[in-house]
Amino acid sequence: MKEMRYAAPSSIDEAVGLMAAADGSGRILAGGTDLLVQMRAGMVAPGLIVDVKKIAEMTTIAESGGAYRVGAAVPAAVIGEHAKLKKLWPGVVEAINLIGSKQVQGRASPGGNLCNASPAADSVPALVAAGAVVTVQGPKGRRDIPVEKIAAGPGKTTLERGEIVVSFTLPARPAGSGDAYLRLIPRTEMDIAVVGCGVSLTLAKDGTCTAARVGLGAVAPTVLLVDAAGKALVGSKLDAKALDAAAAACRAACKPIDDKRGTIAYRTKIAGVLLKRATAIAAERARSV
Ligand SMILES: Cc1cc2nc3c(=O)[nH]c(=O)nc-3n(C[C@H](O)[C@H](O)[C@H](O)COP(=O)(O)OP(=O)(O)OC[C@H]3O[C@@H](n4cnc5c(N)ncnc54)[C@H](O)[C@@H]3O)c2cc1C
Repeated sequence: MKEMRYAAPSSIDEAVGLMAAADGSGRILAGGTDLLVQMRAGMVAPGLIVDVKKIAEMTTIAESGGAYRVGAAVPAAVIGEHAKLKKLWPGVVEAINLIGSKQVQGRASPGGNLCNASPAADSVPALVAAGAVVTVQGPKGRRDIPVEKIAAGPGKTTLERGEIVVSFTLPARPAGSGDAYLRLIPRTEMDIAVVGCGVSLTLAKDGTCTAARVGLGAVAPTVLLVDAAGKALVGSKLDAKALDAAAAACRAACKPIDDKRGTIAYRTKIAGVLLKRATAIAAERARSV
């Protein structure tokens, strides 16, 4: 039987040092709701597990000048109970709270959801729409990366060897902003998204959309930032023409697979439908703040 070591450092520097010394055989453990399942299935066999749940910066939520820094290992359940975050970023919080069951929520983290690099990861389209920036630390120091640049393909990231995702920063947002996340699943809960769509937007007092970002999940090898969909909404009052153009941009961005959850044609059509519905919810929220 292969030896496996476990470490639970209390600082990021220590965690980075442990990962560097493991020479590629180390794995970060946050909630373990993906990692432990994959280990039991024999898909991965780390020589070292580095548990990051005891690192303060990775397990706390902090506000600075209206921006929120959410530690990568904060459990989904804690994020769901954060009143200010829920008010400012309801779409991000609802996406994170869609992950698994109550039990899974107690452990699962946004960092794990992102680094597992599933194209169907629920929190990622909402974080992409939010314009979240990820802080990573590795042997060469710290860097900030837009969240949409982390996944490289199913199960693969652009992180360099030994790099750890430390936190997500959600930017300060102007009045009149709202976001939403919707997914389509065949069951009512505990299922993998056929399509997921996150929308974040800002409306001027007269209802004109001044900023919009759209993230799409489960329709390509990685979660997509659909720039053209956001651009189609900006400058409009979210009228039918603008929504049709944004939905068409979403359909055009899709490069999905055919599987038991949905065909290419179905996924592509649903991407446009969810865009319109998520935009309506985000706009309603923007009007009420
Ligand atoms: C029953 C069940 C239901 C689920 N339902 C959903 C669902 O509805 N939607 C959904 O999106 N997912 C779902 N999942 C998948 C899983 O719960 C999520 O992806 C979760 O967010 C993973 O977070 P974690 O903290 O448990 O990650 P872990 O399992 O700890 O880690 C996942 C991967 O990311 C790496 N990693 C973790 N944190 C970091 C970090 N900070 N820096 C670098 N690498 C890191 C780990 O090494 C590992 O490779 C479900 C899982 C289960 C078991």
